[in-house]
Parts: sequence; C-alpha cells; structure tokens
Amino acid sequence: MNFSLHSFDGHEGSENREGYLKEIISFVREAAAQGVIISFRLWNLTEDNQTNLTRSRNRETLAVLEEAFDLDFKIEEKVVPGSGVRIAPRIYLNQDHEFRWPALHEPEDDGKGFCHALRSQAAVLVDGTVVPCCLDGEGVINLGNIHERPFSEIVEGERANNLFYGFSRREAVEELCRKCGYRQRFGT
Ligand code: SF4
Repeated sequence: MNFSLHSFDGHEGSENREGYLKEIISFVREAAAQGVIISFRLWNLTEDNQTNLTRSRNRETLAVLEEAFDLDFKIEEKVVPGSGVRIAPRIYLNQDHEFRWPALHEPEDDGKGFCHALRSQAAVLVDGTVVPCCLDGEGVINLGNIHERPFSEIVEGERANNLFYGFSRREAVEELCRKCGYRQRFGT
C-alpha cells in the first residue's frame, strides 16, 4: 500500500503536517501488523542529491517519521535508484525524483514506450468516471462511468482496448499519455 506523502507539500494550502502524518501513521501501524507492506513515497526530489540535502525539503516530514518509528539514525534526503529505507517491519520509505505530471498543455513526445495502465491499474474518479490511471485526475481519458455501465464492461470498451493494445505494441495512442512524464520516466 503506497502513501504519497509528497502530496502534502504539493497541495497548496495544506496545513497541519503533524496531524496529517499522525493519522496515516496510526493506520499504517495497524495495517502492517496485519501483514500489509507499506511504502511511504517522497517523490519530490531534484536530480542532484546535493541540492536535496542543502534544501532539506522533506526534513519536517522525515523528522516526524524518525520520531514515530523511533529511528536511531537520520534519514538522508537522497535518491538511491531501486532502493528504499526500511523504517519498521514491513514499512519502507521510497524517495525519488519528481516527474512531470501528464497534462494536455505539456510537450508531446514520439509516444514510444510502455505503461501498466489497465494491466495492473485503473482509477475511478469521485463522479464515477473510470480512467486508466490515478494521474488522470481530470478525466481526460474518460473510459465510461460506473453509474451507467459495469466496470468490467468499461475496461473492455473500445477506447480502453485501444490504449491497452497500443501499449502492447509500445505505443501511446492517447494524447495525454504522449505528454506524461510518468511514462517517460518509468515506461520507456
Ligand atoms: S501513460 Fe501516463 S497518463 Fe497514460 S495511462 Fe499511463 S500513467 Fe496514465
């Protein structure tokens, strides 16, 4: 189970960092005790580890984690590719660089690459719109609405299949996917 802790600073007007983290930590303690593996994400670092250390952008969040989990070391703000920090049994911290969120106004690339959309992920927006991933919060790739059709039918619909089989050919058929920094980072 992933928690994107960077969303606190990414969201304008966020307040009460401690309260926000405490609620998550309390849930996570129970879930981990039941065998769930937890990953805290801080995907907001720059490419340069030295800059991250100098800016200390996540220090307040890390201090709360260090105290809550009784760590006898300070977590460094740096990206170690493919590696996370274990902070308690079944609980990890995963740091990474910030990626460019997909948006229609972003530059488009040649669309070559892959994404796990509709293979291992899909999302349902608050109004029932099904989209292929949680990055499409505006419902640009609107596949259908669960208030009108069953989910199983929606993910087998024409637009969904075009996206799915496009990625099987390593081709992003949707404009939003060709403008998606997540795909460009992790799916090329
Ligand atoms: S390529 Fe990006 S926008 Fe397209 S489905 Fe994947 S994560 Fe979502």
